[in-house]
Amino acid sequence: MKPNECKWYSVCPMKYYTEKGVLNKKWTENYCHAGWENCIRYRMEENGEFHPDWMLPDGSIDETLRKLSLGR
Ligand code: SF4
Repeated sequence: MKPNECKWYSVCPMKYYTEKGVLNKKWTENYCHAGWENCIRYRMEENGEFHPDWMLPDGSIDETLRKLSLGR
């Protein structure tokens, strides 16, 4: 794990989407590699709260990612 990298990064769907080229890199750059404390996904994971794979770090839902996820 790199310094400042979120501990969930290796298993996070945001990594998967970014590597697949379907998610703007700003999300992982601004959250996973910098401000993971502010990530809603991170907070919900810590609290054991359900959140769909297609929920973005700011808590918004991305319907495009949802459709891609259902197809995988
Ligand atoms: S999206 Fe959030 S929970 Fe996932 S790796 Fe990035 S900072 Fe961590």
